[in-house]
Amino acid sequence: MKPIYFFDEGNGKDKKLFGGKGAGLIEMTKLGLPVPLGFTITTEVCDKYYENNKKLPKTLMSEVRKNIAKIEKRTGKKFGYQHNPLLVSVRSGAALSMPGMMDTILNLGLNDETVVGLAKKSNNPRFAWDSYRRFIQLFGKVVFGIDDKKFDEVLLKVKHEQNAQNDSQLTEESLKRIVSEYTIICQNHIGKPFPQEPYKQLELAVEAVFKSWMGERAVVYREKYKITKDIANGTAVNIVTMVFGNMGNDSATGVVFTRNPSDGTKKIFGEYLVNAQGEDVVAGIRNPEPIDNLAIELPKTYSQLIKTCKKLEKHYKEPQDIEFTVEQGKFYLLQTRSAKMNAIGMIRTSVDMVKEKLISKEQALLRLQPEQLDQLLHKTIDGETAKNYPMIAKGIAASPGAATGTVVFDVKKAVKMGENGVKVILVREETKPEDVPAFFASVGILTSRGGKTSHAAVVARGMGKPCIVGCTEIRIDYIEKKFYAGNITILEDEVITLDGSDGTVFLGEIPTIEPQITNDFKTVLGWAERYKRLGIRANVDTTENAMLAKSYGAKGIGLCRTERMFNAKDRLKTFIEMIMASTLEERKLVLENLRILQKKDFKEILKIMKGYKVTIRLLDPPLHEFLPNIEELLSKIRILEQQNAEDEITATRRILKRARDLSEINPMMGHRGVRVGITFPEIYEMQIRAICEAVGELEKEKSGVHAQIMIPQVGNVTELNQIKQIFDDIKSDVETKYGVKLKINYGTMLEVVRACLTAEELAKVSEFFSFGTNDLTQAVFSFSREDVESKFLPEYLENEILVENPFQSIDVGGVGSLMQIAVTKGRSVKPDLEIGICGEHGGDPNSIKFCHKVGLSYVSASAHRIPIAILAAAQAALEEKSEKKGRIKPRKQ
Ligand code: PEP
Ligand code: MG
Repeated sequence: MKPIYFFDEGNGKDKKLFGGKGAGLIEMTKLGLPVPLGFTITTEVCDKYYENNKKLPKTLMSEVRKNIAKIEKRTGKKFGYQHNPLLVSVRSGAALSMPGMMDTILNLGLNDETVVGLAKKSNNPRFAWDSYRRFIQLFGKVVFGIDDKKFDEVLLKVKHEQNAQNDSQLTEESLKRIVSEYTIICQNHIGKPFPQEPYKQLELAVEAVFKSWMGERAVVYREKYKITKDIANGTAVNIVTMVFGNMGNDSATGVVFTRNPSDGTKKIFGEYLVNAQGEDVVAGIRNPEPIDNLAIELPKTYSQLIKTCKKLEKHYKEPQDIEFTVEQGKFYLLQTRSAKMNAIGMIRTSVDMVKEKLISKEQALLRLQPEQLDQLLHKTIDGETAKNYPMIAKGIAASPGAATGTVVFDVKKAVKMGENGVKVILVREETKPEDVPAFFASVGILTSRGGKTSHAAVVARGMGKPCIVGCTEIRIDYIEKKFYAGNITILEDEVITLDGSDGTVFLGEIPTIEPQITNDFKTVLGWAERYKRLGIRANVDTTENAMLAKSYGAKGIGLCRTERMFNAKDRLKTFIEMIMASTLEERKLVLENLRILQKKDFKEILKIMKGYKVTIRLLDPPLHEFLPNIEELLSKIRILEQQNAEDEITATRRILKRARDLSEINPMMGHRGVRVGITFPEIYEMQIRAICEAVGELEKEKSGVHAQIMIPQVGNVTELNQIKQIFDDIKSDVETKYGVKLKINYGTMLEVVRACLTAEELAKVSEFFSFGTNDLTQAVFSFSREDVESKFLPEYLENEILVENPFQSIDVGGVGSLMQIAVTKGRSVKPDLEIGICGEHGGDPNSIKFCHKVGLSYVSASAHRIPIAILAAAQAALEEKSEKKGRIKPRKQ
């Protein structure tokens, strides 16, 4: 194992070994771009460090010395040498970018002697002492774990005494005082003097970076983003010669995206600060300048930057996010990585880069994250309506989308409230990495400081959460828990709305409008359509959602849950009457009314989806689910008794009795689905007749509709046969009556384990199968789907007893195996058997990829997830082809 690679040695494609940052530096060095000299300690060493019980490998530091010597030789500077000191930065970097999650130390190598040397050499004592105080603070924080506040207090005090408005006005004398006080803070904390020996500093720093891999921030981040060991196993450490953006007005530092990450426009986008260090930009301490101004302030640098951006995009075939520094006019690149963009940006760049012939359509599809499209399918503020609401402030639009929520200032409180389901807007002056848990818990973020590349902006954009930064019009009072916007005071717990797309903050809750699918989005979906093999259908039970799903590209309905059609208030009453009926005749009378209502609903939905299959599932839930719960009924009776309302008491007692009769210990595994259909055949008869008549009436108008009747909870072919008999009888009756042939298929859900295991028998009676993976998962794990997610599942996930929530993403090992068995058995009887999926997993990208692999015919997902499903299905096909190493041709439309 080679522990260290100089930047001109390694393979810049190997992010796992060198981390993203190291790989980028290596690659840029090889491209001949101006990267400061340096080397990378690999992630393998980090892994060893943890294997060795948190001890650095014995020979590591001697290897480090050899590589430092290489830098010394090429720069003429010397590490720890007073006359021309070499200073380095020590930067973390894992395989996957985890912005701000791990630690970095700058200006390492400074001590009481080298600072004097640096002052002389640079001819700028102020700069030297400023670098030293920054170093001690960072080192103290990262290596010794000292609270930033202690250093900030000293800084503030000295600033105040010197009457300085900002850090850059601090004099050499003030900086020296700060250094001396900072050193004392460290000494008091560790009980010995601040380390002066540069190699000792370096060793401690390398270790601190390795430690930060298991720091709370990093662990939470990895958990949330599901960064498992096979994706990133440890951090690399990059040791890079320091270059200074704070050496005067011909020096600068900046962050640039090669294209606009908010909307994908092909124009560099970013910010810079003259005479500053990178951390000033990222931390949002000083408000930076827009990058366009650089063309005026430092024109030579600007043109170098533009050229570099082009070169990097051409090389990586992906927009880049670059960090650069200019030291006394000389341009350096400190980092490049693929730009994190929101969905609009990703879509637009996919389309543009194909037009520019930078990438192929296949690559354009594969670079998108299906889940990210969700951002485009969310609501935005209606500009017209917004006019009627008080706008209280305007800041920098950092991450688009609208969010309404309760104002919370405190990070812990935000996390707690968020977990309790409250919609929280986190309001802070600025944010730091330790605040990230609150980002997860909040629906939107508002900060009074910082620019578009500040911590808050970058993190929120990555998460797709609406965010406004640099909102200088607001003033936050953390103590009194309020913020002021002009002459309005907003208290904690009041509701505000953010428009992350234009930076406006409103008081109150503003109505929002449904998202629009842009032309670029349509283009991408059009490409995806041509590559995917899976069909895409929708889980919908209302006409509105059926139309929405169709507009998003659904070709048919994979699950229409008929019971949801009974939920409207007027219908529920009728349905309860049906359940309460004391004789069969009475029940049939009520069912007659329900048949008319259902027929009307079915006709509307079938009409919307004409030309496509509409799978209608017969009643599934246990009947008692439609009755009020027993506790409620008892308390209602107590109240009625106080009012002596005799008639109502009798009626309520009747319902109570029925509810008790129907109640079950374990209803999800009880009297539901086909079991209800068999014991109360009149209910299924009514539904089947309603479907047949709806199709019959539409068929007379030659509407080209195609229904599928789907039976839930089947575990035994006899159940399926019994209902099939009813279906056949009603169908031929309606066909005779209407004089038309009905296009209706008969099939079953596969959601009971036995159904999967006996699929070859079920296939003989079925024209289609559809996996109900919600119930199947419940059955395979013996997890109650109603309870586990709020009980032990979070702990299981946290402790990695389960890697994924199996109700969200298909459990390939268990549920997936059953699916595979059922597919094989079913198709052994009917090779062309249509087999789909209609559990929630049908909208989950990884599950969709699994469905593709096992050869399902289609996936069915809720309306808002249709575009995600289309893209995931296309990616599944493309990935399969690339595994087979073949290029594929898109189908002709
Ligand atoms: C399922 O079990 O996967 C399913 C779609 O049915 P429901 O969620 O309605 O039980
Ligand atoms: Mg089910």
